[in-house]
Amino acid sequence: MDEDTRCEAVRSQDARFDGEFFFAVRTTDISCRPNCPAVTPKRGNLRFFPTAAAAQGSGFRACRRCLPRMVSPSTCSAKVRRAHDGSWHRNCRTVSRITTGRPPTAASAIVRR
Ligand SMILES: [Zn+2]
Repeated sequence: MDEDTRCEAVRSQDARFDGEFFFAVRTTDISCRPNCPAVTPKRGNLRFFPTAAAAQGSGFRACRRCLPRMVSPSTCSAKVRRAHDGSWHRNCRTVSRITTGRPPTAASAIVRR
């Protein structure tokens, strides 16, 4: 994946790239998923990483909107339980689809309760 593709994914908040890579913003020191709804950073301020851990290892904090550290459905369920927030649930569905190929039934049950 080249830099143009990544920049375009970030600019358009393309969910298809969620989990493919992570980006960080030099000016804010925050790392995000490509489809983060919180920011549209300038291209010159972007850095790209293959994993969330790599971004955080370089000193970038995890974004609180898109939760780049949230990579497994089990982590996801705990986050949903704590947050009671539909946007977190949508993140969980994306993560679960990537990691297991199935919808996150446990997380869904928690949200509906
Ligand atoms: Zn974010």
